Amino acid sequence: MIEIKNLHKSYKMGSNSLHVLKGINFEVSEGEMVAIMGSSGSGKSTLLNILGILDEPDHGTYNLNRTLIKNLNEKVAAKYRNKFLGFVFQSFNLINYKSALENVAMPLYYQGVGRSVRIEKASYYLEKVGLADWASHLPNELSGGQKQRVAIARALASDPKVLLADEPTGALDSTTSYEVMELIQQINDEGKTILIVTHEDDIAHMCKRIVNLKDGIITSDSKVKQVRANSKEYV
Ligand code: ADP
Ligand code: MG
Repeated sequence: MIEIKNLHKSYKMGSNSLHVLKGINFEVSEGEMVAIMGSSGSGKSTLLNILGILDEPDHGTYNLNRTLIKNLNEKVAAKYRNKFLGFVFQSFNLINYKSALENVAMPLYYQGVGRSVRIEKASYYLEKVGLADWASHLPNELSGGQKQRVAIARALASDPKVLLADEPTGALDSTTSYEVMELIQQINDEGKTILIVTHEDDIAHMCKRIVNLKDGIITSDSKVKQVRANSKEYV
């Protein structure tokens, strides 16, 4: 599903350059649930942004669904993003003046899906995340956990191959974090490939594999026994 080889990324700052990713190699197969861990500044978001075709590496190759992602113009990049990828962010990134339903329907609008199908699909995914009764509410009428559920429904609405989540529980208290992780685990149980950036150990262990990033290189990459978010182990 995802295959990256010898990925490098630097940020230029004036005459200086900050080498953030220093030769990353890894593969993710369909159905995996992978945590990318590392301290703040270790390059997690940089890596996720490249995987999400929001940024480009300086060197190395990235294959997504057997397609080489390289030198794409913005139109083609947007097409691949829409077709293959769903995004979830720490700060939810919902549109404040649109209802939960409209937020979920938004990516479908950009894909040219007609209004009635948009509403039908958005309603389906809102129900899936347990928010059918909140469809007409605005984001500021929802709790943090509910906002993240809306964001997850929005990410799923276009049925992406891979869900990329950058610190999805970073702005939530631990009870709410576990509820959101329970939902993400259910989505993975149904076969969706998921990558989650986190710096929280308990969240990482709710995945099936943990990749550790330090100073721009992968220091460990191993399968782990998945802790279910609804088990009572942590509460
Ligand atoms: P993480 O998500 O692990 O906290 P990031 O990938 O966001 O780390 O950042 C890695 C390093 O790159 C940090 O030192 C950060 O300051 C720097 N960085 C990130 N984005 C940019 C950018 N657009 N321009 C310059 N430096 C950046
Ligand atoms: Mg980050």
